[in-house]
Amino acid sequence: MANTRILSGRSVVVAGAGLAGLAAAVRLQQSGAQVTVLEARDRVGGRVWTVRNGFADGQHAEAGADLIETDHDAIRRLAGQVGLSLTPVLEGGFAFVRRDSRRYPSNPVSIARGFWPEIAKLCEPWVRAYRLTEQRWDSPIARVLANQSVADWLDQIRADRRIRAAVQGMRGFFLADPEELSLLALVDQLASESQGQSRFYRIKGGNDQLATGLARMLREPVQLHTTVLAVTQRRGGVRVTVSGSDGIQAKIAADVLVLALPATTLRRIVFTPPLPALQRRAIRDLRYGRATKTQLQFDRRFWQRQGRPRAYGTDLPIGAIWDANEEQRGNAGILTLLAGGSASIETERLLAQRGIRGLTDHLRWLGAAQASVLASRAVCWTDDPWAQGGYAFFHRDYDPELRAWLARPHGRVLFAGEHTSLRWQGYMNGAVESGWRAAAEVEALSRQLCSRA
Ligand SMILES: Cc1cc2nc3c(=O)[nH]c(=O)nc-3n(C[C@H](O)[C@H](O)[C@H](O)COP(=O)(O)OP(=O)(O)OC[C@H]3O[C@@H](n4cnc5c(N)ncnc54)[C@H](O)[C@@H]3O)c2cc1C
Repeated sequence: MANTRILSGRSVVVAGAGLAGLAAAVRLQQSGAQVTVLEARDRVGGRVWTVRNGFADGQHAEAGADLIETDHDAIRRLAGQVGLSLTPVLEGGFAFVRRDSRRYPSNPVSIARGFWPEIAKLCEPWVRAYRLTEQRWDSPIARVLANQSVADWLDQIRADRRIRAAVQGMRGFFLADPEELSLLALVDQLASESQGQSRFYRIKGGNDQLATGLARMLREPVQLHTTVLAVTQRRGGVRVTVSGSDGIQAKIAADVLVLALPATTLRRIVFTPPLPALQRRAIRDLRYGRATKTQLQFDRRFWQRQGRPRAYGTDLPIGAIWDANEEQRGNAGILTLLAGGSASIETERLLAQRGIRGLTDHLRWLGAAQASVLASRAVCWTDDPWAQGGYAFFHRDYDPELRAWLARPHGRVLFAGEHTSLRWQGYMNGAVESGWRAAAEVEALSRQLCSRA
């Protein structure tokens, strides 16, 4: 439907200049709309944030979203449209490191490859049943899965310590502990993915270029430092109440509004008329994973050795570990630590008590003792006021039937964002697809309005 200029003469406000909002805004502009993008931060990109200051050798690293996978078609296509290229990274994917209480931290027991298929095998009966429902969240199968945690399931199948450790290592992926995460979220992931065929990529020069490149394509510059507070719909349009950095409020009128904000900030917005009760609950009850992402720049890349993985899921308090910039030049190199769920709390505690040393001690098994830290940067996304967490996860208390409400239009208000995506929730790809979906919905809405007029 895009590129038909069907939106000529229409005004659209897009709230949120993350990938969802920017992808929507560019599509809407291409269809002829006059687009205004509002963003609370002092930058575009949201949870895509490349840190460029403070590292030696002009190196950079991703404080937010990093990896793109083979089947992330939307973001790959979008990067191409903005003229950006992808570099393959982390060949061989993630191995798993399990802590050995006797010899840890100098030498954890095991580095295993391919733990994910083993978990998939254990989950197989549930995955098969779930696929029969075409992955619907309103079926009794989804409800049974949703009402138990991954930890409950591990107890039921009498999982051994090795499997429990591997599932604990998924904190770096789901950003939630097995006790919190619903089994439905795990089964959904296993039922959706192309097992073992994925490769990893990142955008050459930094993922933030995608956001800044999209923002540059807009005729009207993104309005930064602008927070959406309230939305009023009347016959014929939408009125958005915003507040600037000086606290002064203003109202912006438009034909249609796309809200591409995380549920954490969306739930503070006052709607007139109010959202339906189920939609309010869907937004209110959605949880976001705790996440602390740390970048450690060392004077040498001690983790790069022949035959060794470049990425590890772990059950360690520092979370998952991977090479953050193998594609960049210089003797120095950066390691990423992504601590999700309770590992985020443990990482924050280590940082508060012992500083960076508290983290590097947990890297001795990898050879960190031979290297010096040149620079570091830790970002706690839970404390970020405009995200309040890493990305959404489905808690065992979440009613699965509420999920469909996250993306449901409310009159002239449409919703986008990672959390609204069914196939790619938690990924940049989901954000981009949701933005394109919302733009297509605006076009359909506009056709309806024209035919009624
Ligand atoms: C630590 C971490 C690691 C990740 N790793 C990966 C990865 O490797 N690969 C991957 O694909 N994905 C990853 N992700 C997920 C990815 O970052 C997100 O799925 C995606 O960027 C979300 O985009 P979005 O547009 O939906 O939301 P956001 O990027 O959050 O954009 C929403 C925007 O709305 C703004 N906003 C919020 N409230 C208001 C308001 N009231 N008024 C105005 N503006 C407001 C925010 O400031 C923000 O800019 C990671 C995320 C984190 C945090």
